[in-house]
Amino acid sequence: MKERIKIVEGDITEQEVDAIVNAANTSLLGGGGVDGAIHRAAGPELLEETRKIGGCPTGETRVSKGYRLPARWVIHTVGPVWAGGHKNEENLLANCYKNSLRAAVEHGVKTIAFPSISTGVYRFPLERATEIALTETKKFIETNENPDKVVFVCFGEKALNTYREVFERIY
Ligand code: ADP
Repeated sequence: MKERIKIVEGDITEQEVDAIVNAANTSLLGGGGVDGAIHRAAGPELLEETRKIGGCPTGETRVSKGYRLPARWVIHTVGPVWAGGHKNEENLLANCYKNSLRAAVEHGVKTIAFPSISTGVYRFPLERATEIALTETKKFIETNENPDKVVFVCFGEKALNTYREVFERIY
């Protein structure tokens, strides 16, 4: 199982994978952070499509094309805003990973890249978010052939070290 996971430091918009996951907001109309970077790199056609999709509830996913990105698909998922831990945030974040992986299977995706959902503006504690990301992905790939490769793209050294530590503990 271990060899199907890759942890890298970098920019998710540059990943040569079949699908990248966007940490979007419920409007799907773009925003800051990774969402803004993905919209800038994909070009204005992405916003045209997500505007038509019309929004996405927290924990769910919607799929669009990748346009000018190297990735063919963008799987938009909406992470929970951290509100102290008693608002179902952990389950909602787990749903983001589960539903994104399911959507990947439905679209024939063999390689997928995730950002660290909810750990930016949405303030989810990084270590706990990383445990959820890696645990949900492990459970999923143990029972599914696809995606064959899951890349976790860490934006900065702090995230990279956290992902590496949690990976050694969990896998
Ligand atoms: P959220 O609103 O879900 O917290 P953010 O975009 O604010 O989303 O942050 C999510 C994570 O994405 C953060 O860890 C942030 O450092 C990271 N991030 C920001 N830009 C990029 C990028 N271009 N590639 C990968 N990760 C990124």
